Amino acid sequence: MPLFKPTRREILTLAATAPAFAMPVAARASLGRPEGGNPAHFRFSVGDARVTIVSDGWFSLPTTGLGINAPREEVEAFLASNFLSPEQGYSHTNHLYIETGDARVLVDVGSGSRFFDTAGQLISNLDAAGIDPYGVTHVVITHAHPDHVWGIRDDFDEAIIPDAEYILGEAEHAHWMQDGLVNRVSAEDQQFVVGAVNSIETEGVDWTLVSDGYEVVPGVTLFDTPGHTPGHMSVRVDSGDSSLIALGDAMSHAYTNFAHPEWFNGFDSDGEQTVATRKRLLDMAATDRIAVLGYHFPFPGVGHVKREGDAYRFVPALWQF
Ligand SMILES: [Zn+2]
Repeated sequence: MPLFKPTRREILTLAATAPAFAMPVAARASLGRPEGGNPAHFRFSVGDARVTIVSDGWFSLPTTGLGINAPREEVEAFLASNFLSPEQGYSHTNHLYIETGDARVLVDVGSGSRFFDTAGQLISNLDAAGIDPYGVTHVVITHAHPDHVWGIRDDFDEAIIPDAEYILGEAEHAHWMQDGLVNRVSAEDQQFVVGAVNSIETEGVDWTLVSDGYEVVPGVTLFDTPGHTPGHMSVRVDSGDSSLIALGDAMSHAYTNFAHPEWFNGFDSDGEQTVATRKRLLDMAATDRIAVLGYHFPFPGVGHVKREGDAYRFVPALWQF
């Protein structure tokens, strides 16, 4: 599937240099994939809100996109010391589904059928979790990257969830829809622009364009977290004395982003702004003890932020039966 050109190029580059990264067998320490797969949803509550994390699948990118402002050897050594492959990443895709009052809010719509073959399973996984995808009342989009919005269209180019209200940051919409953007970006970014525009223009989708502090329904609020994309927004759920922040891609790695908040990634459109936003989020979540959800963190991606000196650590939430 030649849709994702940067990846292919990076894979080829990586393959050419692979022997340099060879690790002793003992250092790999990875477990195998399960036969027949694992359940793709996880439930908990935030006060009175019933929350389900539903996966869209996964995909793998070369780690050359991680910590691009740090020495390459340092990034690889850090990954290896955390029992992660120094060569290939494993990105989970954890969608937040919130039931509160009469509202059924879904955050992001996944990749659909036009990105990686291993992703695009959100609708069938919602179904498997006993959730009627067509009963979703509000679809919130954190940002218009392929893995978050391309799933908005079905195979007939119509809205995948026809009756929902679709919500997107005003600044994010303005960025992708500016005149002639596709001609001003690099060749490898052009498909991102075309994909975003096509997704935003999906037949049957009427956007509600919003700004910082917008309340989707009582207890579900959007706030600005720019950097990864210019108009990126995160979602906050508050009920009783419990809170959860769905970070979107304001943080995309459960290890590097916490231990090295100053490292940014190749897909962060403004590295400095990404780092500033991330430090603000980490400080807020650690100080106020707010739970976080990382879209690309290891499934289900829910946990807390623990301060450790100048850095932080992601502490996964307890799995409760
Ligand atoms: Zn993403």
